[in-house]
Amino acid sequence: TDIGSQKDRVVTEEEWLQKWEMGNIGFHKEQVHPLLQKYLDVLLSGKSGLRIFFPLCGKAVEMKWLADMGHSVVGVEVSEQALKEFFSEHSLPYCEEPVPEISGAKKLQSTSGNISLYCCSIYDLSSSIVGKFDGVWDRGALVAVNPCDRQRYVSLMITLMEKSSSYLLVTVSYDPNKHEGPPFYVPESEIKSLF
Ligand code: SAH
Repeated sequence: TDIGSQKDRVVTEEEWLQKWEMGNIGFHKEQVHPLLQKYLDVLLSGKSGLRIFFPLCGKAVEMKWLADMGHSVVGVEVSEQALKEFFSEHSLPYCEEPVPEISGAKKLQSTSGNISLYCCSIYDLSSSIVGKFDGVWDRGALVAVNPCDRQRYVSLMITLMEKSSSYLLVTVSYDPNKHEGPPFYVPESEIKSLF
């Protein structure tokens, strides 16, 4: 009768890695999201050379799309497979390096230098490691964060934003009693209180 059944549910990092291994990635889309196209001006406000952050990036094609416009893109994703698929599917050469501040983390960077993807948990990042961003594209990210981690996620995102930055957030409106995902229901009232 309420979203109570979802509140305590947790999707572990291991489960996400398995989804990638099994090819169970129905969330991945081959086309640039129509809402990004629609609200692109809100994200960029006519500026060029912005730094755009993709939390929980998967292999989102929008990263390539924005990089091709001359922006620099930073993403974070726990699945190394996802990041490697991103570079190979776009035929982008890249190099790998460790991230000294985060044990076990790697940074995969396009040779052209304008796409840097961190392979680690988003909770390992801070503005001292990745800097601050002019824009955020949050699609399949807040809605994939475990409900118990939402406040932590949002607080972190705020620390990664420049004062003048824009945050585009995509959520899905549905009856959480009738549908299981994607993967969590975040009501609008909660978005307002979180941010
Ligand atoms: N934003 C992408 C992917 C959405 S699915 C898109 O639009 O296609 C959510 C992604 O978050 C998955 O690829 C999963 O592996 C990744 N993920 C889950 N928890 C994470 C965490 N704590 N840190 C970084 N990535 C995470």
